Amino acid sequence: MLMNTDAFVLKSRKYNEADSLLVLFSRKLGRISAVAKGSRRAKSQMLAGIQPFSYSHFLLYQGRSMYTVNQVDTLKTFYPLREDYRRLTYASYIVELIEIEISEEQSHPKLFNLFGKALSLLSDETTEIETLIRSFELQFMTVCGYEPNLFHCTHCQKSKDKKWYFSLSQGGLICNECRSKEKDTLLISGTCLKLARYLQTKDITDSQHLKIHPRLNEELQQINKAYLLYHMGRYQFKSLKLLPQVDDLLPMPSAKSRQPETGSAAHGLTEEAKFDTFNEDEDKAFGNEQEE
Ligand SMILES: [Zn+2]
Repeated sequence: MLMNTDAFVLKSRKYNEADSLLVLFSRKLGRISAVAKGSRRAKSQMLAGIQPFSYSHFLLYQGRSMYTVNQVDTLKTFYPLREDYRRLTYASYIVELIEIEISEEQSHPKLFNLFGKALSLLSDETTEIETLIRSFELQFMTVCGYEPNLFHCTHCQKSKDKKWYFSLSQGGLICNECRSKEKDTLLISGTCLKLARYLQTKDITDSQHLKIHPRLNEELQQINKAYLLYHMGRYQFKSLKLLPQVDDLLPMPSAKSRQPETGSAAHGLTEEAKFDTFNEDEDKAFGNEQEE
């Protein structure tokens, strides 16, 4: 069976001599694995569209055990992510979160949109990267169904106190009085709480240029990370600890084969419109809206 879908390439690994094994995050099909045959040959038309983090339109054949890529049209390559180590590390981090959270063939339109926005912002050089990642973490928790309660004590419900803690098991604030009832609490400063509330309630794009003090960032980062790890039952995130493996990155396509990035006009979409498509109604399949 043949099918069309728009998808992000989460991972791309060498497979056999000339093939690639892709992990895709598709709007329609969620996370799927697909083989791109012959894609590692120098002249392959697929090369640009199957780079990690690329956003492409795929024509897939569904075999008995796996999908095979029949055709790829690159929509956006997010090329700047691969040119800067810090951006690359954070892009790998959000990919890791997505991979842990979603199962095979589980469609997750809200997460798909959030991921698209995050990659777009991360590849924009004017973005405050640390702020973006803190915002992504908080919105990711919400979209995945474990939004932390940052507005009142999860025990006694009071909303005003001088000293607040964050409970990992309760997924929210604990006031100073109720603290003795909880073991796994982290102190959260008033400024950090304000920032977390702001990032949680605003769209991720609204925080793009917000500068935050490194110490404040570090405080929120530790709380977010501890809460994510608690939920995911992990001890560490690999992407934040290790350098990306060189082998995971395919050879860069030549300037000529990178053309599809600007070739979006061929799909009748301007750069701005493409970005907006990540905001679209979650039932709308982006890939089906395009007119040639
Ligand atoms: Zn309380």
